[in-house]
Amino acid sequence: MDREPAPDNFLAQIIAADINKNPNLKIHTRFPPEPNGFLHLGHATSICLNFALAEKFNGYCNLRFDDTNPEKEEQAYADAIIEDVTWLGFKWYGDVKHTSDYFDKLYEWAIYLIEQGLAYVDLQDAETVKQNRGDFNNLGTESPYRNHSIDWHKQELENMRAGKYAENTASLRAKIDMKHANMNMRDPILYRIRKAHHHQTKDKWCIYPSYDFAHGQSDALEGITHSICTLEFQNHRPLYEWLLENLPVPSKPKQYEFARSNISYMITSKRKLKLLVDENIVSDWDDPRMPTISGMRRRGYTANGIKDFCNMLSVSRSEGSAEITMLESCVRNDLNNNYPRAMAVLNPILVKITNLPENNIISLVAPKHPDQQSMGNRDLTLTNEVYIDRNDFSTDSSLSRKQFKRLVLGDYVRLRNAFVIKADSIVKNEQDEIIAINASYVEDTIGKKPPEGIKPRGVIHWVDAKNCHNAEVRLYDTLFTCPNPEQQDDFTKAVNPNSLTIVNAKVEASLIDAKPEDRFQFEREGYFVADRYNHQPNNLVFNKIIGLKDSQKPK
Ligand code: ATP
Ligand code: MG
Repeated sequence: MDREPAPDNFLAQIIAADINKNPNLKIHTRFPPEPNGFLHLGHATSICLNFALAEKFNGYCNLRFDDTNPEKEEQAYADAIIEDVTWLGFKWYGDVKHTSDYFDKLYEWAIYLIEQGLAYVDLQDAETVKQNRGDFNNLGTESPYRNHSIDWHKQELENMRAGKYAENTASLRAKIDMKHANMNMRDPILYRIRKAHHHQTKDKWCIYPSYDFAHGQSDALEGITHSICTLEFQNHRPLYEWLLENLPVPSKPKQYEFARSNISYMITSKRKLKLLVDENIVSDWDDPRMPTISGMRRRGYTANGIKDFCNMLSVSRSEGSAEITMLESCVRNDLNNNYPRAMAVLNPILVKITNLPENNIISLVAPKHPDQQSMGNRDLTLTNEVYIDRNDFSTDSSLSRKQFKRLVLGDYVRLRNAFVIKADSIVKNEQDEIIAINASYVEDTIGKKPPEGIKPRGVIHWVDAKNCHNAEVRLYDTLFTCPNPEQQDDFTKAVNPNSLTIVNAKVEASLIDAKPEDRFQFEREGYFVADRYNHQPNNLVFNKIIGLKDSQKPK
């Protein structure tokens, strides 16, 4: 599918102006996830933005793990992130990078700052440091260790590194201004002690750089030109610039901020998504109801559909919220154009065609896609027993043709890709439930109009009862019942108890060849995907991706 070029946004305009001033500028962006959870749709927007800007200006985009919090981070998360970015179809520049690749350099630069009189070791405990920073109304108080000698601070940093101090009893701080209006400039912490195993550097370090000390310097070491982040980092920008100004960095990146994207009915916070996993509210990070990239993938959303959505979101500096229906329509559009059709009956009832001989098998051919002949055809069989959906049948003959364009007792309907039938009678069990319909077919109506006087009410889907397969079909609804779960006091209370329904369906014979992650339109039902993990030739499992039409969710 042809992809729309990334729309012009204010960041693209900034970059274009920079290139105008400096035609030799090679644009270099980065996507810097912290490997402390799976990526979600919010991250996808950041990924699309960073990679699209690099591509648009013929530059590069790095993938860098921002791995400075060893307690919360895991290699498994890093692996999942790599898989997700790859699945979205992006190729980062060179090897995957890690902030931890630069721990040696950052330590060297910490010593450099001490030597410049711009950093100091504070032996106050973490709580005191926090209190003495003051707040919006109160100026901060300088640490009694602030003006010790340079040699003392160098020695104490070495002691910190050697493991002499317990966590939260010592830190390295930048010496800036305890009275600064911006709290981030009140002698921010550059290194703290964490006696934790790191998934990359193992047990080499017991001190770890803060986000602020690591991020801009990593950008500079990688030659990043435009470091794009979300708005909560705006107040960190003066510190980002202060550090680049005062360190012998090889390049001078610039930070730009844009607003996070919020999407109705979804949660875009790793912390909250982790809670859903930890509390077993969902099966895992990649549960098909999760707004994670891997969840959406398992649900059957396409990478192109997700990217189209991300590219449609306006990149701005003011918070906004996008409708989930917009995402769904991007995905639906891609599915409709690019995936084959098949028939599945989700709520089957047997129809016996009484005027067809018992052993007769009619071979039919149906196109895989109505508009894409290149996809070819699929073979169908038809015998004297078919399944149709219970909801496609009514005994109420007073229903007008307009009200009910399906099968009604005593009336005609066309079986899709096959002939016209008439419902003649019903078969009931002892509980007075209809268990089968007796019907007769109208001769010579395959691919042809019925004779004068016979007007089928509509076209319904079906499967050949003698040549079909059972399948587990998982139907999904939104994970939350309200459009703004993030704004609830307890978002777990807004979880939709009916977000998953499992039905036993009958599917056409050709679906035995479906491979995990193959997608289809089940005609008249919606779009479905063979489950990535559970689908097997002897255990067919399909997830409903999305309906055929906009579900018109309440706003
Ligand atoms: P979360 O709040 O879910 O933990 P995060 O920002 O802490 O998200 P990171 O792994 O640090 O997660 O994010 C990597 C990048 O993705 C950052 O540049 C961040 O700004 C961006 N990002 C995260 N969430 C969103 C969002 N909802 N919209 C746009 N960009 C986002
Ligand atoms: Mg973060």
